[in-house]
Amino acid sequence: MFDKSLKELASSLASKDFSSVELTQAYLDRAKELNTSINAFVTIDEEQSLAQARSADQKIAQGNIQALTGIPIAHKDIWCAKGWMTTCGSKMLQNFKAPYNAHIIDRFNTAGSIIQGKTNMDEFAMGSSNETSFFGHVKNPWDSSRVPGGSSGGSAAAVAARMTPAATGTDTGGSIRQPAALCGISGLKPTYGLVSRYGMIAFASSLDQGGPMARSAEDLAILTEVMVDYDMRDSTSLKRDPVNYSANLETSIAGIKIGLPKEYFSDEVSPDVQKAVASAIGEYKKLGAEIVDVSLPTSPLSVAAYYVIAPAEASSNLSRFDGVRYGHRAKEYKDLNEMYAKTRAEGFGAEVKRRILIGTYVLSHGYYDAYYIKAQKIRRLISQDFAQAFEKCDLILSPTAPGTAFGIGEKASDPVQMYLSDIFTIAANLAGLPAMSIPCGLDDANLPIGLQLIGNYFDEARMLNAAHMYQKATDWHLKQAPLK
Ligand code: GLN
Repeated sequence: MFDKSLKELASSLASKDFSSVELTQAYLDRAKELNTSINAFVTIDEEQSLAQARSADQKIAQGNIQALTGIPIAHKDIWCAKGWMTTCGSKMLQNFKAPYNAHIIDRFNTAGSIIQGKTNMDEFAMGSSNETSFFGHVKNPWDSSRVPGGSSGGSAAAVAARMTPAATGTDTGGSIRQPAALCGISGLKPTYGLVSRYGMIAFASSLDQGGPMARSAEDLAILTEVMVDYDMRDSTSLKRDPVNYSANLETSIAGIKIGLPKEYFSDEVSPDVQKAVASAIGEYKKLGAEIVDVSLPTSPLSVAAYYVIAPAEASSNLSRFDGVRYGHRAKEYKDLNEMYAKTRAEGFGAEVKRRILIGTYVLSHGYYDAYYIKAQKIRRLISQDFAQAFEKCDLILSPTAPGTAFGIGEKASDPVQMYLSDIFTIAANLAGLPAMSIPCGLDDANLPIGLQLIGNYFDEARMLNAAHMYQKATDWHLKQAPLK
């Protein structure tokens, strides 16, 4: 049961090999058992999940079956789900129960899936290791002394440890792809604007995008179909004809042009990662792809630009947590100002405070032009680099992260080292391009390595096709975490 793909689960449910209640209970039991060590879930609420499973079983009995009817899916705790605790990994929202559903939660409900629980994450999605969560570290299922990546580390660890069939995440600078790489699973960040952010707690609104995390490209395609949808409640949501992302998975990729950006194949990449990516390139050649060299000359500035733009937007977005409307409020205070100050001092962790300080600084009078405007100009250049590269190729291939899962505590005291984990993922967010990570090897310590594919705008189907064909030819995505 724990090894079945989404398609296999759907067909087992349809042919009544097991019921949704049985499937959901089995995953809940496994998740509860493993959670004591992995800490991937912040909230498991059996009653709510099983109530949904019972109603899914009724639908199955009536033959009313949608793509995910009866299948449990875990959601990053950044998505509001009505009646569910929604903490965003923060003390600030420790007791916040969402009064409404995010658009994607409505979509998953319509598709028939079960909310299996809410997954742990870096506080307000700020981090690359899950160490900034108020609810404690998540452990990497491949090696519990190591981080799962972040910020969607709970979702990645839950999928890798078979605690859930699939999960959702969000990606502002790499938070789906980098934890997917570090946990040996597949993850997709769609084109900016394809997945509604209504009901997703905002971090950096011009970069945030939700997406699926699963075991294979085939599963991702099914989940992408559910998640991508026009929503008038998100002003950046794009109205486009629906795409069947599963339809062309099996199309031959012979003749496809894959670009290798020379800036992403530098010495910063560990030798094991270089080797695994090189052999993935060889695999793509065997599948008939034509490999071409491309250049993204502005990409070395992407981390710097991101760490101006993302904190600027975060400082504005997080001003809503003032103790008046939602979440935590300080107990004792003399006046309104002290209430604000104490509430925010108590409710936010160190990394979130650091981002608010940086953001407020770069937006302040006198520094705005020097930092914020300059970062926006770099952002434009990065988009132009990609536009030029895509004149020469259909997809861009690179490592997802420069190394494999690092030790818990190893980078926690050095923010810049931590920020560099996203050196290959951030540019796609700045440009708004779709990108994904799939497993492509294991290093000497038996830790997973991620391969990144970046597509042109709205080219998710081609990316998924290329990822699926790779997964048909290799078995890296089938390797399982030894749970040690
Ligand atoms: N690690 C990056 C950060 O801390 C990206 C986070 C994300 O994508 N949410 O900002």
